[in-house]
Amino acid sequence: MKVLSVNAGSSTLKFQLFEMPEESVLIQGSFERIGEVGSFYTIRINGEKIKKEVDLKNHGVAFEILVNELIENNIVNSLEDIKAVGHRVVQGGSYFDKSVVITDDVIGKIDELKPLAPLHNPAAITGIKAAIEVFKDAVQVAVFDTAFHQTMPKYNYLYPVPYSWYEDYSVRKYGAHGTSHKYVSERLNNILGKTDTKLIICHIGSGCSITAIENGKCINTSMGLTPNAGLMMGTRCGDIDASIIPYISKKANMSLDMIDHVLNKESGLLAISTHNDSRDIEDGINNGEERCILAQKMFVRKVVDYIAKYYVELNGVDAIAFTAGIGENSIMTRKDIMEELKVLSVVMDEDKNNTRGKEVLITKPESKIACYVIPTNEELMIAKDTYNLV
Ligand code: AMP
Repeated sequence: MKVLSVNAGSSTLKFQLFEMPEESVLIQGSFERIGEVGSFYTIRINGEKIKKEVDLKNHGVAFEILVNELIENNIVNSLEDIKAVGHRVVQGGSYFDKSVVITDDVIGKIDELKPLAPLHNPAAITGIKAAIEVFKDAVQVAVFDTAFHQTMPKYNYLYPVPYSWYEDYSVRKYGAHGTSHKYVSERLNNILGKTDTKLIICHIGSGCSITAIENGKCINTSMGLTPNAGLMMGTRCGDIDASIIPYISKKANMSLDMIDHVLNKESGLLAISTHNDSRDIEDGINNGEERCILAQKMFVRKVVDYIAKYYVELNGVDAIAFTAGIGENSIMTRKDIMEELKVLSVVMDEDKNNTRGKEVLITKPESKIACYVIPTNEELMIAKDTYNLV
């Protein structure tokens, strides 16, 4: 069965078409600058990348072009061959603890949750509506980034702020990257050959989150009401003293919007090292640049802090996984983290750690906790959830 996995942004549309249940990728690509001048799309097919400049008025036009490409490349005979479309939705609030078939009610709820994801949820609705128009007979499924974290106990998702903020304004921890955490934890359970496991998944890329998982269920995660919580990230500050906000507002005469922008786009690794990409920070460290050394120390410290917290919360851990851009590729960052975990009897295998983008065990057999690199695959997870619902 052919299942289309879709990630719609306000001016982008990323897609992968899977043959399920084989999980093979038939075609993948993205439409960019939709509704803007200079729009184009790229498609990767049979190892070849094609880029075409076209006028993309809206997401519907993008889907129509995609269908034509699929037919021209003999991937499908007709539109009807695509039986299901899975859509990434960033915020599912407390409504959705799993992926669901899209109905008017589901669209209404995604819309209602806009204040919690002002950029992402409206874009998802645009993508969903366009897909419904084009793929009229396909089952449409919503896969939420927050759903996997809905199993957190209340004492973990509530903030110690007035209870009415939770009741009246839905202020609580929702987490993010849930599709990635779910994929990697399932993969890890497959490797371990059991499901009654205690896992810590470190999704560290330009956005970073760590999740504690027991018996396949999330019990705690580092992102919060928004993705700007928990770890230090590429440009986000993560956890800070909340009182910094009114203090700096008065001292620097900055509006809340300005501060919010700085904390999301001009903080994190970028603020400390002047780079938001860990490759540049690694270069800086190798050149002895102090601010890069400092940024890396801060970043690693925060990752280790969360691993330590979740180790205690889980009452021990079977395995730790590193995923996303930094987790999959930064040999230096994984090494720095595992050095700090020696106290938990983690014994790194330096040769095995010397790898990028591959699934591999990076600790020695005598290590008390097994550490793995597991490349994430959110698109496949969306396709799997969609296929299972169909
Ligand atoms: P993501 O958001 O998961 O796509 O991760 C993107 C981030 O991964 C980049 O900003 C880099 O910080 C990091 N990254 C990607 N490739 C490498 C690499 N080869 N070495 C170190 N860091 C990398």
